[in-house]
Amino acid sequence: MSSKKNITVIGAGLVGSLVSIYLAKRGYKVDVYERRPDMRKADVVAGRSINLALSDRGWRGLEGVGIAEEIKKIAIPMYGRAIHLKDGSSTYQAYGKDNQAIYSVSRGGINMRLMDLAEQQPNVTLHFEERCDKLDRKSNELSFFNTKTATKTDVKSDIVLGSDGAFSAVRTQMQFQSDRFDYQQFYIDAGYKELVIPAGPNGEYLIEKNCLHIWPRGSFMMIALPNMDGSFTCTLFFQMEGVLSFDSIKTKDDVMKFFTEEFPDAVPLMPTLLTDWFVNPTASLVTVKCKPWVWDDKIALIGDAAHAIVPFYGQGMNCGFEDCVVLDELINKYGDLNGACLKEYETLRKPDGDAIADLAIANFIEMRDKTADKTFLLQKKIEAHFSAKHPDLWIPLYSMVTYSPHIRYSEALASGNKQQDIMDKIMAITDIELLWDSAEVEKEILNLL
Ligand SMILES: Cc1cc2nc3c(=O)[nH]c(=O)nc-3n(C[C@H](O)[C@H](O)[C@H](O)COP(=O)(O)OP(=O)(O)OC[C@H]3O[C@@H](n4cnc5c(N)ncnc54)[C@H](O)[C@@H]3O)c2cc1C
Repeated sequence: MSSKKNITVIGAGLVGSLVSIYLAKRGYKVDVYERRPDMRKADVVAGRSINLALSDRGWRGLEGVGIAEEIKKIAIPMYGRAIHLKDGSSTYQAYGKDNQAIYSVSRGGINMRLMDLAEQQPNVTLHFEERCDKLDRKSNELSFFNTKTATKTDVKSDIVLGSDGAFSAVRTQMQFQSDRFDYQQFYIDAGYKELVIPAGPNGEYLIEKNCLHIWPRGSFMMIALPNMDGSFTCTLFFQMEGVLSFDSIKTKDDVMKFFTEEFPDAVPLMPTLLTDWFVNPTASLVTVKCKPWVWDDKIALIGDAAHAIVPFYGQGMNCGFEDCVVLDELINKYGDLNGACLKEYETLRKPDGDAIADLAIANFIEMRDKTADKTFLLQKKIEAHFSAKHPDLWIPLYSMVTYSPHIRYSEALASGNKQQDIMDKIMAITDIELLWDSAEVEKEILNLL
């Protein structure tokens, strides 16, 4: 392997920081350029309090460079969904079997830890406040603008990895300097706003700690994930415009009326609701699909830069971490991060990026409209019952995506579609609510498989 290649990584976010560790461990010299100031410095505001669900694909990415245990220290397991109904009552749905969990991590917390771990590699250098403005395709030369000193620097390297997020500058450069660059971007009607349930007076969790909390309300929903300090970050996913939307809720009275009607059990736990509502931004949710991901054997997109998805499967970061695993396996296969390796990375990952983008949109509908729906809950019960009896024949879609890192997203999507076709026929059986665990239904599923 030529271990002397210089690699420039654009963006020290979650994926840029992790891929740098992978590359450094393979002996490459890695320079990471990040547009923002170093969030680990005391005088830098770390940004919003967003937290993310980390699941098996993400853990596999962290394990690959031996840092999973470090991250586990700042992660809270969530074993199921607590569904909060409009009458203030709640129910519980376990995520999987055998105590399977997804983990809540603070985005800032995990990013800072990954930066620390990247910097511990002797051959990684992080450069902050360096915004990538230009990439010259022919010379592989990058131009950076230092936002603190207002100076420009040009950098030339053997390989460029664009891990600069959903609104990637590297991707934009590829788009405008290519003849045939496919690019698709679409926003869903819903946006989001972050709110908070603070810790109790003694730092205690005021709702069940080890759950992902969901308040499903048809066309909108609120979720809450636990933080290490006893608080929960709540996210309201809500229409951006329309009769009942972010746009229509204008006054303090509007906010209180809406929350008291829709989330009566949460309101008493949200003393800063009004401030949070008016101070925190309303953000939009975008999906990006593009092709190619790789240019001239030396420039590649990774993470959200290649595949920005909506957050409803909790997979954006997990998918980006899986990109790192696949790239590393291919470096192993080809003996170097070369053109053939990058080309196969694109061939393997592009269908998976597209698949998880589609699954994420579908899960938005499921979480928002169906988690409180009786027919949907019965379908899930039948699937779980059948899967427990025939684990080799039926892995529920959620488990394939979340707990089965060896099943590709594209395979999970295809199997999930097949399962849905079968379940449509099963749910149409007369008196299915009485027969759901009968031998007759089991036999029919086996026939249809
Ligand atoms: C509301 C919400 C909830 C989410 N929940 C989950 C979840 O539960 N689980 C999950 O797996 N994923 C989740 N995600 C997705 C996850 O946040 C992203 O997939 C993940 O952050 C992608 O990592 P990244 O490194 O590719 O991009 P980013 O984290 O966006 O990092 C990109 C970095 O590049 C830098 N940058 C940008 N432009 C430039 C430039 N021109 N020059 C230099 N640097 C630049 C940025 O400052 C940033 O640091 C969620 C996303 C949202 C919006």
